[in-house]
Amino acid sequence: MATAKHSPAFREGILNPLMRGEVLVPPLRAYLCNPDFGGMTIKVPSIGTRPYDGKFHSSEHPRWAPRALMLYLVAPELLTPRMFQASDILAMTAGSVWHAIIEHCFMELRLALACEVPFESVETNSKGTGDAVRDGEIVEIKTMRDLLLRKIETPEDYIARFPGYHLQAIDYMRMSGYRRERVLLIAVTYPFEMKEFVIEYDMLEAQRIDTNYRMAIQAAADFQLPMCGGCDDDCPVKPLCRSMDSAAIMRLVEGRS
Ligand code: SF4
Repeated sequence: MATAKHSPAFREGILNPLMRGEVLVPPLRAYLCNPDFGGMTIKVPSIGTRPYDGKFHSSEHPRWAPRALMLYLVAPELLTPRMFQASDILAMTAGSVWHAIIEHCFMELRLALACEVPFESVETNSKGTGDAVRDGEIVEIKTMRDLLLRKIETPEDYIARFPGYHLQAIDYMRMSGYRRERVLLIAVTYPFEMKEFVIEYDMLEAQRIDTNYRMAIQAAADFQLPMCGGCDDDCPVKPLCRSMDSAAIMRLVEGRS
């Protein structure tokens, strides 16, 4: 029997992803690698700083302790803002361009039902926007360096390397009722490798996020600073917690103009 001779590009880009059960990568690669590609018009949104809206956001807040969340509600100006290097901004802009391209392809190829889908939970004062949804699952696009993408083979690798992205996925599922997120990884340098896999719902983690949000809302209503057991290096309250006790923090909150 004759053995099919596939080109390395076809084998790597389309055949192997199909064998791994990937549903997005093969049609995307076929579409984007077509020499007769007819062009597209995309709109790239601004990545400008999000104005304060008093809401908990999936991209940022699932990792925060109730104390930090409570201060975010009552005295956001006391939190230390995240600082970005110029190259971080450029990376985010490049990521936005790729998001717009891939979301255009999703709709063109009918791989998604909708893109930029808002999720919200009024009870927990929280919101987020998923990149896309398709039959029974959320889709999230993540762009990264080729070297990094090659180190991620499984959902577990992804979760270990990007715990914030994992919590973002759980928070989307918590609010939306979806119970799976399909992650599409794209390397934005040659040869533009792509991978995809599915993250399942983690009910315990979702309950932890939900409880933290509710505790913070109640603490803000009672004007009581929650106790905090653990300490996260990235916590925006770190300078306050390091230099003063709870009573002093609350005096600062009450005394600000
Ligand atoms: S700095 Fe540490 S103790 Fe203070 S709120 Fe953040 S996690 Fe809690």
